[in-house]
Amino acid sequence: MASKPVILVVDDDLVIRRMLSDLLRASEFAVVEAVDGLGALDAARREQPDMVLLDLGLPGLDGFEVCGRLRSTPRFAETPILVLTGRDDVESIRQAFEAGATDFAVKTIAPSLIVHRIRFMLRAASVLAELRRSQARLAEAQRIARVGNWELDVRSGAFLGSAETFKLFGFGLDAGVRPLSSVRATMVEHERLDFDAELREILTSSTGRFDREFHITTSSGKARVIRLIGERENVPGGAAARVLGTAQDLTEIAESREQIKALAYYDSLTGLPNRLMFVEQVRGALSLARRRAQKVALMVVDLDNFKRINDTLGHGAGDEVLRLVGGRLRETVRLYDGIAREDELLAASSVARMGGDEFLLSVVELTSGEQAASVGRRLLEAMNEPLPLQSGPLYVSASVGISVFPDDGEDFETLLKHADVALYQAKDAGRNTFEFYDQKLNEAALQRLVLESSLRDAIVQRTLSIVLQPQVNGRTGELVGGEALLRWRHRDHGPIAPSVFVSLAERIGLASPLTMLVVNEVCQQLARWQDEGLDLVPIAINVSPQVFRDPDAVEAICRTPKSLGVSPALVTYEVTETALIDDPRRADLVLTQLRDSGHRVALDDFGTGYSSLSHLRNFGLDSLKIDRSFVRDLQASPRDASIVRAIIAMSDELGLDAVAEGVENEAQRQALLDFGCTVMQGYLFGKPGPVEEFTARLRLRMEQARAEPSPR
Ligand code: C2E
Ligand code: CA
Ligand code: CA
Repeated sequence: MASKPVILVVDDDLVIRRMLSDLLRASEFAVVEAVDGLGALDAARREQPDMVLLDLGLPGLDGFEVCGRLRSTPRFAETPILVLTGRDDVESIRQAFEAGATDFAVKTIAPSLIVHRIRFMLRAASVLAELRRSQARLAEAQRIARVGNWELDVRSGAFLGSAETFKLFGFGLDAGVRPLSSVRATMVEHERLDFDAELREILTSSTGRFDREFHITTSSGKARVIRLIGERENVPGGAAARVLGTAQDLTEIAESREQIKALAYYDSLTGLPNRLMFVEQVRGALSLARRRAQKVALMVVDLDNFKRINDTLGHGAGDEVLRLVGGRLRETVRLYDGIAREDELLAASSVARMGGDEFLLSVVELTSGEQAASVGRRLLEAMNEPLPLQSGPLYVSASVGISVFPDDGEDFETLLKHADVALYQAKDAGRNTFEFYDQKLNEAALQRLVLESSLRDAIVQRTLSIVLQPQVNGRTGELVGGEALLRWRHRDHGPIAPSVFVSLAERIGLASPLTMLVVNEVCQQLARWQDEGLDLVPIAINVSPQVFRDPDAVEAICRTPKSLGVSPALVTYEVTETALIDDPRRADLVLTQLRDSGHRVALDDFGTGYSSLSHLRNFGLDSLKIDRSFVRDLQASPRDASIVRAIIAMSDELGLDAVAEGVENEAQRQALLDFGCTVMQGYLFGKPGPVEEFTARLRLRMEQARAEPSPR
């Protein structure tokens, strides 16, 4: 202390008062004297002493009263008060303690000792004052930083928190003790369990520390994010029983983190995800694809000559172009996803803006790399439509580089690098084109695209044709029906196998138009035959499984024969097992619709799938076609023979007509007849041929029927 400590000496005994005062002044203290109680209070107020030396036996207000009143004024709440009593006056000492005295001394004490007593007391008081000040500073610092501290007694579960800690948890403004359960009660369920686990762990782990964010709701209903750090108190040799920690309010930080995330994850110009978010999405897609053994294509799309647009039309127009292009890319990918996954909601292909005029795309759920070519081509097509800028339509084009996971890289960075390499090749190749990183894929994609686009053209221009294959009574050879099969003779590639182009059509979403084409052809032909006055036989039409998911197409299929004046009983639809078991409920609906319209339904390729016949009986089929693979090996394989025999017996039992496919020789015909199957189809009776050939057979049949009415 810089200035001398001020001591208030209160005693009505002049001798003692003077003696004490002199002694104190000699010992570098400043002294104020008072002779009675009121005087003492007055002097205290005026002189603000650092310590009081108080005689208990005063006239008027006695020492106890003075002591009590001093203590009740904040300024003197902690000022040391040394009371002077007579020897052995135990009752007075007790009362003085009650009244708040700091210490006592008997008046007979040696004066020099009194001085030392006073020094000790002043030092204790200043340490206490310093402690109080630093506590106040700590509380203030905690309030400003929104950090509180706490202690947990693990055994009793007593949670001792600072004022700020309590404020954070919503326990009130004052520091205090709460049961641990009330802390846990503020936490959301699963984090409460995490908290328990952390506490358990901290007592045993080597670090003895946890640091974690928790979401709490205070008792007043405020949601907060708080960070709790806890550390085990290490007692040498003993088990830890206390955890010391801090609590910090992160609510605002958490909120701004979210905002930052929104800012950081989207491109503000186009509203598309930015590179950062895209990388996360793609990483997720890659790990999913890895598990499912699928492929993912990564595409870099770069506008051709964007710099020129910017330079000539200005940045405003440039921004407009980027926005429109972004929208088109997103739309293209969305459409692709719609085809690729039909009703699955979880779209995972995505588009992002990389910056500048570069966009990134990922296409998921591919089974082969060159499938990405369709998307690439559609992207370019979408780009080639003029962009409706405010200043008028603008033509742009883009170049696309494609890499394929896992063939061209296992991780995002490698894939991106390779897609970039491919992009440069595309630019070199004259822009407005796409290139794969893998040259083999470029060739495969080219072929595929040629096929794809010409198949579209073929459907539109009707350069696809149908052939008809007879179905006969194997015993008499009489024509009993026919199956319509598609044929496609490509301008450059020659005839393409139906197994190739039909599955291509199914993959690219052209199954319905293709089926409708056949339905129309067949029905028109039936109508023509009818007009000619020919006796008709039912014609079978193959229906792709994809058509089942297209209610409009099913509707049209049911309607077409009648609308052309043809009896629906003359059209049989052949469906495969796949179509039935993929989605049995929908299949049931479609089959009911077909039968209700008067059509017959046959199960194609029976025996190649996995379903038992009894499983399929509920679909109410009319006939089933024994797959030609069984018929082929009928003589060579006793096993196949017994399968065919069983199929025929069972279909008989279920009231289904069995039709044998692929009958090529006499032995097969005889065996099938022996097993009880009469309706047959195969090269032995006629290959699929032009419609005229079939017409000739119908005429022949009529003539024969007229000549000798057959006993059918
Ligand atoms: P599918 O429905 O099983 O058609 C029967 C196939 O067996 C036809 O092959 C036919 O030419 C062939 N075939 C007939 N008799 C014999 C024979 O005695 N021996 C041998 N080895 N083969 C015989 P195609 O015309 O090549 O058609 C193959 C597949 O393409 C068809 O199998 C069918 O799944 C599909 N397909 C053909 N046209 C259409 C169509 O219009 N729509 C749909 N969705 N698929 C079609
Ligand atoms: Ca068929
Ligand atoms: Ca078949």
